[in-house]
Amino acid sequence: MTSPGTLHVVATPIGNLADLSSRAQEVLRGVDAICAEDTRHSKQLLSHFGIERPLVALHDHNEEALAQRIVGRLLAGESLALISDAGTPLVSDPGFRLVRAAREAGVRVSPVPGACAAIAALSVAGLPSDRFSFEGFLPAKASARRERLSRLAGEPRTLVFYESSHRIAESLVDLRGAFGDERHAVLARELTKLFETVLDGTLAELQAQVDADPNQRRGEFVVMVQGAGDDADAQLAEGRRVYAKLTDHLPPSTAAKLAAEITGASRKALYGG
Ligand code: SAM
Repeated sequence: MTSPGTLHVVATPIGNLADLSSRAQEVLRGVDAICAEDTRHSKQLLSHFGIERPLVALHDHNEEALAQRIVGRLLAGESLALISDAGTPLVSDPGFRLVRAAREAGVRVSPVPGACAAIAALSVAGLPSDRFSFEGFLPAKASARRERLSRLAGEPRTLVFYESSHRIAESLVDLRGAFGDERHAVLARELTKLFETVLDGTLAELQAQVDADPNQRRGEFVVMVQGAGDDADAQLAEGRRVYAKLTDHLPPSTAAKLAAEITGASRKALYGG
């Protein structure tokens, strides 16, 4: 009986090509085929390293349908690799359905670790990182985004978000609205690339900087927000959440008065802030 092959989950660079480890290159060179999110994009990366393996397109739209077929190939003895456009597969990227299907079929799934934007960003942010909450991308719709943020405002762990150039300005406004002007945050942009920038300050300061300089809205971002530190932060966060709900039904001044009574947060901070 043929023994099954291995599914290698391989991290690729998030900008600087030299971050593809020598083990990653060796594994990619040795597999029967590479499952990639965007085969044209990955072909460029692979040809830079002289790696020529067949590519299989695996993305959010076909992963469910393709997973069993790929598992069939693994069970038949082929070794395959999974990569995404950048960084670690499955982290805000496709792959979890395939990995789950492979594991359920008893196929060995083995990581080749490497770049991940969230971890790279945390490593230079200077924010508490012994515990953190990775939140991925915020919802695109403003109402859903605000709702999500209002639920996170009392979270004591450092929060890590992914954001694109299209929405960074809007998201900073909403982060400020949900967490207050004074919450400490760090914006990591274009990590490992030519225009790498890491800005830190209060949410109000960061928003002002990004608003003032169009260059600070270009590229790819990791936004990290310090967790709600003490009782006062948590109380204000809860006040903002209740206030946001009540303003759906009541005039803002009444909503602020009630939210302050319910949560103990300052009415001025809710209504004025
Ligand atoms: N799987 C990837 C990882 O391991 O980080 C993330 C893929 S996700 C589709 C792309 C998002 O990751 C970008 O919108 C941005 O938020 C973040 N990102 C990727 N590369 C980055 C970089 N060089 N600098 C800052 N953020 C980056």
